[in-house]
Amino acid sequence: MTELVLLSGKGGTGKTTVTAALAHLWAGRAVFVDADVDAANLHLVTRPETTGFGPFLGGKLARVDEDRCTGCGTCTDLCRFGAIDCGRVDRFGCEGCGLCAMACPERAVQLDDRHSGQWYAGRSPYGPVLHARLHPGEGNSGKLVGLLREEARGLAKAQGLGRIVVDGPPGVGCPVMACLAGASAVLAVAEPSASGLHDLERVLQLGRHFELPCAVAVNRADVAPALAREVAAAAGRFGAPVLAEIPYDPAVPACVADARPVTERAGSPAAAALRDLAGAVETFLEAP
Ligand code: SF4
Ligand code: SF4
Repeated sequence: MTELVLLSGKGGTGKTTVTAALAHLWAGRAVFVDADVDAANLHLVTRPETTGFGPFLGGKLARVDEDRCTGCGTCTDLCRFGAIDCGRVDRFGCEGCGLCAMACPERAVQLDDRHSGQWYAGRSPYGPVLHARLHPGEGNSGKLVGLLREEARGLAKAQGLGRIVVDGPPGVGCPVMACLAGASAVLAVAEPSASGLHDLERVLQLGRHFELPCAVAVNRADVAPALAREVAAAAGRFGAPVLAEIPYDPAVPACVADARPVTERAGSPAAAALRDLAGAVETFLEAP
């Protein structure tokens, strides 16, 4: 099983545009996962018909039995998160550590599973697509990413598909690391800007930490050619080949607005570059 993770270090580089293009070009050959559980949008482009879903139980949440609580304040004194006030729980502050439940003299506190979000599996014209929705203010996004990847592996196995493509979350934090553990390779989508360069280097450092082969695609490369060269030089320092330079193309925002992969648009220069990229990524994945 090959798991390719697309990362960018920041939002807005065109990572989902590239993932949607791969979904179109590799239709029926892979399972696609949107691991940006805070703001999933791959499903808007791939339009899957839901075939399965389930709750995400992200942790624990204190619940107080009002009939037992005497308002003694022991829980308030002990909670290091300021999340309980004489038996009244702030669900956004509670970390589910269980100290109040252990200390309550009336045994009035219980820990419930915390319903922190929902995951979805679906059938799209391009193949199976998984995504999730973390509820506002909820944590443990890395755990939800892990759940999505597990579901994706199950689907890939059941359908005889040997490839999983993960549209990773922005940043280099917990959910990104949850994407990389056990993955096969990283495709970093960078943009030619000072912040794009900085974020690319952080992504490649992370890829190096996980000892994963990394490659780079530079989006809108012709907008700032000098910076695009700096991006390529940075990639070179990490031993990451630049597999494509995707030109700025008005067809891309038009297709984003239409919620369609840009590779469905004939005559688009960006679509042509993305087709070349898809071929180059296959070669990269097959390299020993
Ligand atoms: S420690 Fe128990 S009894 Fe005391 S205020 Fe908290 S929940 Fe109520
Ligand atoms: S479970 Fe922990 S974090 Fe939540 S209210 Fe109790 S002591 Fe505070």
